[in-house]
Amino acid sequence: MLFDSHNHLQNHRFDQHRDDLISEMRRVGISRCVVNGTTESDWPKVKRLAQDHPDLVIPSYGLHPWHLKQRSDHWLNTLADLLIESPNAAIGECGLDRWLRDHDIGLQLPIFQKHLDLAVQFDRPITIHCLKAWGPLLTLLKQGTVLPTRLLLHSYSGSLETAKELLKLGAHFSFSGYFLNSRKEKIQEIFRQLPPDRILVETDAPDMRPPSPNYQLEDLNHPANLKDIVIQCAQVLNIPTEQFAQNSRNFFNIALSQK
Ligand SMILES: [Zn+2]
Repeated sequence: MLFDSHNHLQNHRFDQHRDDLISEMRRVGISRCVVNGTTESDWPKVKRLAQDHPDLVIPSYGLHPWHLKQRSDHWLNTLADLLIESPNAAIGECGLDRWLRDHDIGLQLPIFQKHLDLAVQFDRPITIHCLKAWGPLLTLLKQGTVLPTRLLLHSYSGSLETAKELLKLGAHFSFSGYFLNSRKEKIQEIFRQLPPDRILVETDAPDMRPPSPNYQLEDLNHPANLKDIVIQCAQVLNIPTEQFAQNSRNFFNIALSQK
């Protein structure tokens, strides 16, 4: 039982390969994946994937901080409508990013806040992207009177100190295959200090390729690499492989009775 807590199966770089990718994912034993929309224009593709593969795909909708300028005036209504339509949908990928050149944190903060508000209003899990914006993230989360109960810091690359603050807020953290690189030892060490029941695993396909991927698809990260990533992550963190899927199921609210 394998659960990819974060990918972008809708990404246009997968357009020519998607059916094969999905067959391969099923073949290696992936039972669920969360497909993260990043901009209004890819939300219909995410929705379609969830409709076509309801047993595999959990849809998630959000505005990625890299794509805020493309948003329309009615993005928030569209997002709310999508959440109403699909009770199993999550929120994200959304968040804060000061790594990006020309970032506009003043624009990112209120838009991210709207995602947090929706997560509270609809009681949905929310997937957060954060790069070089840990201070503003913690400030924003701590000033909220009500917080979403399920916060996922995807591809978490912050400090242990920040992680401890986030743990107090109930956060979960997902480990990306990219972190298996030996030069990411510092991140691995931080994950070793987190409670095992707060750790999820992700591919972030088509990005964040693991160091020696089993599956090659041009220069893309193949979502079926999850199987190897989980096995290696379990060794690196000394956590049983089954724990990760269990954590993801709890987080995304997938009952064990559902296959
Ligand atoms: Zn992502």
